[in-house]
Amino acid sequence: MKLQHLSIIFIIIMLPISLIISAYTQAQIDTLVLQNSYDAKLMDASYDAIKAFDINTMNNDLSNVADTVRDDINAAISTFMTSFSASMGVPGGTDRYIKPYIPAMLFTLYDGYYIYAPTLTENNGFAYTLQPYNYYSVTYKRGSTYAVVNYTLDNYIVVYLKKGNEYEVRSGYLIAEDISVGEENTIEEYVPVANVATNEVNIRARNVTLDIYNQETPKGGEYLYERNELYYINPNSAKKYYAEASTFTNWVNENLKDIEARHAMRNGAHIFEEDDNTKIFDIGSNNNPEDINSRFNQHRMEVIKNSIQDNLNYSISAYAASAGANEDTKYNFRLPQINPDEWITISSNICMVAFVQGMPVGTRYYNNYSIVQSATNKFFVDPENIYYIDYAEDEKTRSYHKIDCPYLNQNSDKITGFSNYNFQKFTVKISNGGETTKQTYYRHREGACYYCIVGGHYDSDSKNFRDEYGNLYPENLVGNKQDAYYKAIGREKYNQYTTTNYFGEKNKQEG
Ligand SMILES: [Zn+2]
Repeated sequence: MKLQHLSIIFIIIMLPISLIISAYTQAQIDTLVLQNSYDAKLMDASYDAIKAFDINTMNNDLSNVADTVRDDINAAISTFMTSFSASMGVPGGTDRYIKPYIPAMLFTLYDGYYIYAPTLTENNGFAYTLQPYNYYSVTYKRGSTYAVVNYTLDNYIVVYLKKGNEYEVRSGYLIAEDISVGEENTIEEYVPVANVATNEVNIRARNVTLDIYNQETPKGGEYLYERNELYYINPNSAKKYYAEASTFTNWVNENLKDIEARHAMRNGAHIFEEDDNTKIFDIGSNNNPEDINSRFNQHRMEVIKNSIQDNLNYSISAYAASAGANEDTKYNFRLPQINPDEWITISSNICMVAFVQGMPVGTRYYNNYSIVQSATNKFFVDPENIYYIDYAEDEKTRSYHKIDCPYLNQNSDKITGFSNYNFQKFTVKISNGGETTKQTYYRHREGACYYCIVGGHYDSDSKNFRDEYGNLYPENLVGNKQDAYYKAIGREKYNQYTTTNYFGEKNKQEG
């Protein structure tokens, strides 16, 4: 065969093939690029949503009550939908095109969670609704003992106990061992309300005090709120916290010690292996409810995961079963595998999880989910989110730190910690002779430590205090830091409002 013939054959056969391959490869690359851009858009929309949630709940005085937080969650969902739609280029900001691809959103709160999902209506349509609140609760049945335990994101539980014919409801914090702390110094501090311009009128800065930490009106200061018991914090809060937690723990040890994981039931069925004889409520130094690796915590997280998984599965499959009727998607929705590390995040933090499925992307479907954690909230006391100030330092230069920061002086006896939301900007309305103005202020004048908070040099430096996952072990803290840590946790937890606080009254009488 002549060379020319070979060339012609090559051109006729090989060229189209290579063109097809290159077109196919290009389509795959386009899909990948598009997928990556969807990932970024999903994360951005999720961060926007959790930020909206944080801001709204911070300024909602009743936000600790799960039911009043519905509005804040609805606002977060709407932020998510708007942000996601807008970044996907949906014209007019409508979320109509995005919604069918979102089979569920999850919000984990302190003692339970909300699922937002398309729910079947009477006339076989779908309504996008926030379902009723689910508590992290589980029933244990052992002989004639019957206990319903409501878990939370930390060491606080509520127990509804029925033993034979006796019936009791108790709530409280579980602690591994007795910790004794002294009275805290009351902290007197003036915080200036920032100068802000409202309707082009400048309002002068005024001093307000850290109203909740002292009883008397200090000279030259003004309180933002009227003085009342609600804003007064007892300097013995921390001491009381440990005493009451100890009473409650003893009660739990007495009454629930023999309960094992295999006794756990939900909807009439056992939820763990029949031979799982883990004693969850045998509390002590070898089962420390404040240690993430303890039997109590592993079980608590399993219970939360189990409940969320069941309900998400139910919601998503109900939607999938009828998705054929949904002309927009024609996709088989199902709950994706969430990895164990992500479950730890979900079951120990205020989180939002958004699922996106079946969205056409190039030659494939886009499936992903985002997990974002609330950064600042009033829902519970996270030891990691307590910031410490050394009041012995010069007022002009001092800053707030994490407890194990090397720049926080361990020898100072004036270290005090506060939950991180106290360091946020607050907005307050001040009425002055019929004129109401909005002003902003900070409860603390200190700035964030560049090293531990802004820079976050934690992995490399804190080996003495933390495990490989970054969990802090307070028993390793040295100098006055340990005392400051226990006081701050105790005070903040003691003053944390929960709807079930009143079940803890009995801990007081005996403590
Ligand atoms: Zn620091």
